[in-house]
Amino acid sequence: MKKICLPLLGMSLLAFSLLFSSCKKDDETVVTPPTTTTDVVDITSVVQSKFLTNNGVTVTTSGDNIIIKSDGRPNNHKTPYWGVGHAMYEAFPAGHATNPGGQILVQNYTMTIPAKPKEATTKEATTTFAIGMALNGVPIFNNTEMAGQPLDAGTISSFDGAGAHPAQAGDYHYHMTGKYTSDNDANLIGFMRDGFPIYGRKDKDGTYPSNLDAYNGHFGPTTEFPNGIYHYHARNENYLNTGYYILKSGSYYGTKGTFTK
Ligand SMILES: [Zn+2]
Ligand SMILES: [Zn+2]
Repeated sequence: MKKICLPLLGMSLLAFSLLFSSCKKDDETVVTPPTTTTDVVDITSVVQSKFLTNNGVTVTTSGDNIIIKSDGRPNNHKTPYWGVGHAMYEAFPAGHATNPGGQILVQNYTMTIPAKPKEATTKEATTTFAIGMALNGVPIFNNTEMAGQPLDAGTISSFDGAGAHPAQAGDYHYHMTGKYTSDNDANLIGFMRDGFPIYGRKDKDGTYPSNLDAYNGHFGPTTEFPNGIYHYHARNENYLNTGYYILKSGSYYGTKGTFTK
């Protein structure tokens, strides 16, 4: 039934305001604000500008998704895994393996992530495979190695200065922070498969965040997202006293996209 709104002379103020508000309900569209601010952050422009697209990484968009392709090699930094004699070769950190038992081979990675990442209703655990991609196109792994076993001292001795090593297929990957991604700072390291960015151990104000959730993330401003975004931090825990810091363990905060090779 269409309501008729006519101001009536002699009407009490209360009755008038009730009638007026009931008329407004019919004629106005109620705009519901987003329930969380993370819903409105579009990561597209940061992804496009921060991935090293001059290093064999390509970024394209498709509908609500962003597609990042890479050859998986750390083309922007040194590591012993380039091999002795390579221009980008450097020695292992002191006390580590002295002979690179593996090598870096070209891969064909495609990571598809949402342009507007959202919190998942049900949180899914990360597994032993690529759980994200660093800005240079190298995959990010969690704190486990084959068969989901937590990284141990033996595996860690194979890590280079970047907290990384190649698996058997020559697929180089980061498990830890390191001097070429983030070393006790607030650097943007890359993006996880759920579309949320991951930073070093510090926030942009130079402090270690104290309100991280079970996924080692929180909402707040970063250099790349000054108005705030949900973001992960590398774990501020000297893992097994090795001097390395795990990038990401546990579950995703959002819903993971695909990562294929
Ligand atoms: Zn590994
Ligand atoms: Zn933070």
